[in-house]
Amino acid sequence: MSQTQKLYEGKAKIIYATEESEVLLTYFKDDATAFNAQKRGTIQGKGEINCTVSAALLQKLESLGIPTHYIEQLSPREMKVKAVKIIPVEVVVRNIAAGSLCRQTGLEEGKTLPYPLVEFYLKNDRLGDPLLTRDRLLLLEVATEEQIKQLETMAREINQHLSDFFRTCEIILVDFKLEFGLDSQGKLLLADEISPDTCRLWDAQEQDPQNRVLDKDRFRRDLGQVESAYQQVQERVLAQIKQ
Ligand code: C5P
Repeated sequence: MSQTQKLYEGKAKIIYATEESEVLLTYFKDDATAFNAQKRGTIQGKGEINCTVSAALLQKLESLGIPTHYIEQLSPREMKVKAVKIIPVEVVVRNIAAGSLCRQTGLEEGKTLPYPLVEFYLKNDRLGDPLLTRDRLLLLEVATEEQIKQLETMAREINQHLSDFFRTCEIILVDFKLEFGLDSQGKLLLADEISPDTCRLWDAQEQDPQNRVLDKDRFRRDLGQVESAYQQVQERVLAQIKQ
């Protein structure tokens, strides 16, 4: 499939139109950003890893009954996906306290939450992706009440499936971010990516709070060995997917 018109270039991916109107091509870049793009860098080989890991996880979720935008991985960095209208909300699911949850609530990092937390953030770089309440979601008309319920239900199901899968990889799924979109029939599909860029992943065999980090926090917090952490995740995911 040949790439045609570039539709959108984001921080980590480029979206191209294809000759099929309902199909898009996503190209995964090595560019890395953090803290609303205040920190920028490159993680060598990240595009290939994120594309490959996302393809594996999206296929896995499809096989478990979650509708996703995934069609096919065309090359190490290129994924063919169904065209969707992205809902401008980042759905974050948390199993263990980390990141902004700790900063904003004072909860201690590493505390297992009594139940998974599902949160909605507005996808808006200018506003710094603020945390939204249900009422603010409705006020902004970014999703209907029915869609909010559906997003939450799907996010919880996905969390269950991904947590179970990562456990088989000896990886703890701390938290992650999802994006959803509506296809031409108005069906809600899981979109975007699921990768070490969008998940906090801790090595289950490692107790040290820095050494256990296998995700983008290595880049955010200048922990070093970013590439090898991403490779670890890819190796473990692919090894388990094959089983
Ligand atoms: O920063 P925070 O703790 O709110 O992030 C929660 C989870 O969502 C993390 O796994 C992070 O990688 C992911 N996230 C993301 N993209 C964003 C914000 C958060 O992938 N814009």
